[in-house]
This record gives sequence, C-alpha cells and structure tokens, in this order.
Amino acid sequence: MHMIETEILIIGGGIAGASTAYHLAQYGRHVMLLERDEIASEASGVNAGAIGAIGWGNVPNLESYLTMGSLEIFKSLHVELGYDIEFRRSGALQAIQTEAEYAYTQRRVMELRSQGYTVDLLSTWEAQTIEPELSPALLGCLYMPLRAQADPKKATRAFATAAERSGARILLNHEVTEIHPHGDAAYQVETSREPCRAAILVIAAGAWCGGLGAMLGLRIPIMPVRGQMWASAPLPPRVFHTISAAESSLQWHTAPGNDNQTPPYLTHRGQQRLTRHLYGRQTRAGEIIFGGDRQLAEYDKTPDAAGIEVNHGHAAEVLPLLRELPITRTWAGLMPFPLDGVPIIGKIPQRPNLYVVSGLASSGFGRGPMAGKLLAEYIHTGHRPHVLAEADPARCVTLVE
Ligand SMILES: Cc1cc2nc3c(=O)[nH]c(=O)nc-3n(C[C@H](O)[C@H](O)[C@H](O)COP(=O)(O)OP(=O)(O)OC[C@H]3O[C@@H](n4cnc5c(N)ncnc54)[C@H](O)[C@@H]3O)c2cc1C
Repeated sequence: MHMIETEILIIGGGIAGASTAYHLAQYGRHVMLLERDEIASEASGVNAGAIGAIGWGNVPNLESYLTMGSLEIFKSLHVELGYDIEFRRSGALQAIQTEAEYAYTQRRVMELRSQGYTVDLLSTWEAQTIEPELSPALLGCLYMPLRAQADPKKATRAFATAAERSGARILLNHEVTEIHPHGDAAYQVETSREPCRAAILVIAAGAWCGGLGAMLGLRIPIMPVRGQMWASAPLPPRVFHTISAAESSLQWHTAPGNDNQTPPYLTHRGQQRLTRHLYGRQTRAGEIIFGGDRQLAEYDKTPDAAGIEVNHGHAAEVLPLLRELPITRTWAGLMPFPLDGVPIIGKIPQRPNLYVVSGLASSGFGRGPMAGKLLAEYIHTGHRPHVLAEADPARCVTLVE
C-alpha cells in the first residue's frame, strides 16, 4: 500500500488537533492530521459552545493564557478571517441559589478582583436587567462579562479548513491502529487505510489519548468522562448570556472528589450524585441547550435520562420559562479528563519527537485553540513557552511496566 510521508503527524481532528495543525501550518511546517471519522465528530462537535474567560489577571498563568488566548483566536477566526462560527461576546451569569453559595461567591469575587480578573457580583434585580428571564428567587449572580460563545462544529471545522488553506493535509476516516518506531527518531503509523511516516508525532485524540499512548508503551492519565445535554425547540431570543449555577463551584471548592483513580470535578461517584452542575445558552438557531452531568461511564455515550431530568429541573429553577418547554433531543460526548485536573500539553520525554495536547476536560472548547497554538510554538521553536511548565507531560506520563 502507498506510504504517506510527512514531517509532523497529528492524531485527532477535534479542536485541539485542528488548532495545532492550523498554527503549525501558519509557521510553514509540513503537517498532516489524521482523524478516524469527521472533523469535530466527538466532544469538539457536541459541546455547549461556551467560551470561558475572566481576564489575563495581574500575573497571567496557564489558565489565563488558555482562556484569553483562545478568546483572541476565536475572535480573529470570526472577524478577521471571516469564518462564521457564530462567535458572540455574550458574557456569562452564574446563578446563586443559597446563602452558602452567596458567601462563597462573594469571597471568590473579592479574591479574583484583587488578582486583576474581570468579575462582578450582581443583585438579582441588576442581573434581571441584562437577563430578564432569570428567576426572582435567586439571591444574586456572579457576572463574567468577558465570556463568549461560538458554534462548536462550525468553529472546529473552521480551524481545520484554515489549516488546509495554510497548507496542512487533513485525512478523514483514517483511524490510527498501531504506532511503531521507525529508525531512531521517526514513527510509522498504521491506519485503517494507508500507513504514514513522520518525524514528529502529536497525540490530540481527546478522551482516546490513553489508547494511543498504550500503542507506544505509555500511560497517559486521561480518562473519558461523559457529558450530556438536552435542547428545547427553537424559540425567538430569550436567553442572552451563558448561564450556569454556583452549586457545583461551591461543592468542588469544598471537595474536588479526586483520588488516584478518579479525576476531580465530577458530578457523580459511581451512580451516586455528589452535586448538580449546570451550564447552557440559547444558540443562534434558537434552541435553548443545557447540560452539566459529568460521569465516568467508560466509552458509553448514551445520555442518562434521570440525569437529564435533574438538569432540566435545575435549569428551570434558574430560568422559569424552561419549566413549560419540553426537551426535544438529548446527546452526550466524552471529555478528556486528566487524573490530576491539569491539562497535558507538551513533549513526552520517554519517546523521541512525541507531543501531546489534551486533558482539556470540560472546558476544552474554550481552551483548545490556545492549547494548539502554544504546542505549535513549542514544536516550531524547540523552546517550551514558559506557561506550559504547569502542563508538562513529564509530571504524569509514565512507561507501562
Ligand atoms: C456535552 C459536552 C459539553 C461541553 N461543553 C463545553 C463548553 O461549553 N465549553 C468548553 O470549553 N468545553 C465544553 N466541553 C468540553 C470540550 O468539548 C472538550 O474539552 C474538547 O472538545 C476536547 O477537544 P479535543 O480536541 O481534545 O478532543 P475531541 O473533540 O474528542 O477530539 C479528539 C478526536 O480524536 C479522534 N480520534 C480518537 N482516536 C483516534 C484514532 N485512533 N485515530 C484517529 N483519530 C482518533 C476522535 O475521533 C476525535 O475527533 C463539553 C463537552 C461535552 C461532551
């Protein structure tokens, strides 16, 4: 069979892989991306499209680079490069429903503001002036005006198209099945179609990074976590911000819930619910979409009906108009959760010329563009951008004994 040769081979056509391909192609590198299905066929195509950002802060860290950097990239994709990705600087409101949540949010706002971030604590009345459908029963809202939204499929595909226009090759329906060393410093990759050879390999396979690592005798501690959502029928514009609720923030602040086999910030332990979690928005097409549950369910992408009911109820507590709106469809996707809660972006030291960009968990849509840009800079210059120190794979990737 014909052998395809390239300099840099990226495995995975989600937002992390597509952004890495785009930025490497911008540097003029010879890059090819392999995707087993379509671009954005997994988490990057089914997420809520919420882009988290609260500012650079006085001392920008990994999180501020990933969020604010991505915001800039989304903006330029939409406005300067002309891809209609439904980008909108919506801002976000987090609903406060209990006294304990209020006290926690008040402390958090003071702390974040002192660190230079753009957040505010609004009374319910003030919040209703910008989001009229909010329940009067709320105690207030955390306001994050820099947050934004975009359509996940359109945005991820735009990165892939922009990469191709800059010279990258994108091969769809190519599933990587084996990876072998080729000589001292190159790789031969077997796929469901023709084999490929490359000097540099980038694993950007989201919740499937563990399996790809295993092909190289490596343990990459990323676990698939099921996230699920539901949608209403389309309606005229009624919800303007990204909406969330403070319940899970407080719960995870108090007890992140991780151990050496469980990542932090899940809504369930086994079948037992630890907290409700809520995020959603109204899309340009008019559907109101909400989700929240994060459960370990191996590779099962079937939505859990009971969890969807709880989430619908929670959303209706915050936005009472949802009480009367039936659910028209549900779906789920698998998120790449790193065991220690920190993204894994950089060089894997145990093998030559091997890189990974993943572990973006429940906020990889909003952080993926900059994750890809930072990794592209690392590969291109040979120097690790200083902010990636925290995301260094060396801290957690190990050889399989
Ligand atoms: C329901 C839900 C809601 C979410 N909401 C938000 C949100 O509002 N905001 C936000 O920022 N994030 C959100 N997320 C998280 C976000 O979607 C993910 O963090 C992000 O999409 C991960 O991107 P990725 O490129 O790492 O992985 P993926 O998008 O999963 O891409 C990995 C790709 O690798 C491919 N692949 C895997 N194995 C192979 C192989 N062997 N060969 C070839 N290709 C392979 C897969 O087909 C896939 O396309 C949500 C996720 C879900 C599921």
